[in-house]
Amino acid sequence: MAEAPMLGLYVHIPFCVRKCGYCDFNSYAGLEALVEPYLRAVALEAAVVGPKVFGRRVGTVYIGGGTPSVLHGPQMARLLRCVRSVFAVEPDAEVTVEVNPDTVSLAKLRRFRGLGVNRLSIGIQALEDAHLRRLGRVHTARAALRSFALARDAGFANINVDLIYAIPEQSLADWRRTIQRVTQLRPEHVSAYALTLEDGTPMHREMAEGRIALPPEELELAMAESAAELLIAAGYEHYEVSNFALSGRRSRHNQIYWRSEEYVGLGAGAHGYLNGCRYGNVAQPSEYIERAGAGRELAVLRERLSPAKALGEALMLGLRMREGVDLSELHRRFEIDPLQRYRRELDDLRRRGLIGMSNGRLWVTRAGLHLLDEVTLRFV
Ligand code: SF4
Repeated sequence: MAEAPMLGLYVHIPFCVRKCGYCDFNSYAGLEALVEPYLRAVALEAAVVGPKVFGRRVGTVYIGGGTPSVLHGPQMARLLRCVRSVFAVEPDAEVTVEVNPDTVSLAKLRRFRGLGVNRLSIGIQALEDAHLRRLGRVHTARAALRSFALARDAGFANINVDLIYAIPEQSLADWRRTIQRVTQLRPEHVSAYALTLEDGTPMHREMAEGRIALPPEELELAMAESAAELLIAAGYEHYEVSNFALSGRRSRHNQIYWRSEEYVGLGAGAHGYLNGCRYGNVAQPSEYIERAGAGRELAVLRERLSPAKALGEALMLGLRMREGVDLSELHRRFEIDPLQRYRRELDDLRRRGLIGMSNGRLWVTRAGLHLLDEVTLRFV
């Protein structure tokens, strides 16, 4: 029997210095006092989950947030020691930590590197102070650039830079300048997401009150196209709708999500996917700590995916990748032929030039990328 694919492991650190105006992630400012009890709770959860995946090799570890770089060196050391003592983390595993400028120093980054962290994801977001202020970020463009330089000085040879575009009052020229500046830095990986304002965030309120406006759709589209054009010209592979990488530097961890492979999620609000079952933990850090300490169930969401639903999700996620999906592999995995199940949808999307199909693979065309939500919703 073929060995099960390697697992991914995600650990959520829900603490931030300040809440950004657009942020609807499970993150909180002002909860520093909970950091220690939270890390103990994560260790308790790991001790419960570890035996359930005994014997499974872990190929990627991703410490995300929130702002994991609010942890100081000894805290990160404890967290990684705990993870390695419970899970079979491969010696050459990709170990990523998300960091934000202003929460890192050379000493801290060197310490992280010494702990086996081999990939950083830096939340730069924008390189003009006006845009950073608009987003409610705590750092300046200068601090963002400095954090990148520090990461290199600390020995990181695999760095992702996170960027946001379609910020109110950002012009196409502003955005092109940002991308050009980033390509000069030569990070191994770039993620570029259009700003979306979810209900309940301060920026959404400002928009509802007419105080700010998101750029029109055509400008957002032009920004997405510009990013792809400039990054591809600079030697980056556009391998996922919002992600670009130098050769051999794709995010191994994120590919686990896009390929619908299995992963463990630890921490408040973390999600996991194991044995055909999706789960999601309680979001509030204080409740997570309380439940973990009392040995109570941490998951507040559990869903066993039927093969049909799992196939639909695998298509939705897999089509985000430019290489698309292997149809016979999906057929084998879910015991449903995607060509038969979605015959009508696929015919329609193909007629409209939004998807392509050959040699057993199905992918979204450049035209389809701009209508990705519409394309993928056909597989719900
Ligand atoms: S740093 Fe990231 S997680 Fe924290 S508030 Fe800002 S956007 Fe949200």
